Amino acid sequence: TAELCRVPKGLYDSIKVKGRATKFVDDIFQPTGNNSLNAQQNFNNKRRCMAMLLFDYLSGQTIPSLYTSFECRYKLKDDTQHAFAMLAQQYKPGIKLMGITKAMTTVYHSCTIDNLSAFLQCVLQEKDAMLTEFDTQKCDFDTIDTQDTYARLLDKIRGCPDRCPCCQRPCDVDHTLIKSNPGSESNKHRCATGHALRAMNGYKFEETDEASLFMCEQIKDDQTIVVGSLRKRWSQFKLDHRDWVFESLLKDDELARLNQKFLSIWAKIGRDLCQKYGMKFVTYNTQRINVPESY
Ligand SMILES: [Zn+2]
Ligand SMILES: [Zn+2]
Repeated sequence: TAELCRVPKGLYDSIKVKGRATKFVDDIFQPTGNNSLNAQQNFNNKRRCMAMLLFDYLSGQTIPSLYTSFECRYKLKDDTQHAFAMLAQQYKPGIKLMGITKAMTTVYHSCTIDNLSAFLQCVLQEKDAMLTEFDTQKCDFDTIDTQDTYARLLDKIRGCPDRCPCCQRPCDVDHTLIKSNPGSESNKHRCATGHALRAMNGYKFEETDEASLFMCEQIKDDQTIVVGSLRKRWSQFKLDHRDWVFESLLKDDELARLNQKFLSIWAKIGRDLCQKYGMKFVTYNTQRINVPESY
């Protein structure tokens, strides 16, 4: 937009000093030879030539010395032609302005400008009004971004930062597919591709300290887990984390395969985790799942 204002302003400033604005158009075009038109008819033609001259300048063409309107030829005064050539260097229309101008070819070739100064003043006033309006509107990104698009795009790139509160496996839902916020009723967090071994987050059996090799999907509602100093039924734990769906989308055989994969990872890193969390390292649990687990 800066360029769209700069060029008319430069043109306006340079013709402002060239005498009476209303006479400008009449002055700069002189009929060639003797045409039989009266002054008013000639002036009407000159107004058209003025529009064509403005078109030539704004569309980045070289300014010719002759303009034709309704088969009458008009010579552009040498000093004006020279002035426009200088102007084209000093305030060279950019590609955008040239493009807009060319797109308006038919407008320029059918309109008339009888007072270039007033015409440009209108353009510039229009610009001022536009800028004023622009300034009064808050247009920083946060204001425009009423749909949290930025946050959702970040989520899409980084993935959801939430982790299963039980096994700490990252949520793998693409929350950006649904407009509501991550964790809200229709857009809950989930380990859709399956949870991790609970031992990976330090869960162990209460009495034997055996690391729990179960996955969140395998816990039954009436099973008790110990969270910090609290004993909770799994059903209650789920209520405490309503922003999560704890069921994965895996079928039983897929879940069994994933469990096997985790067990082979466990064989490699399990000992370290057991040391970190004070658990007893095992590769299978001797205890049933319905014994309280704690961490
Ligand atoms: Zn989990
Ligand atoms: Zn999530």
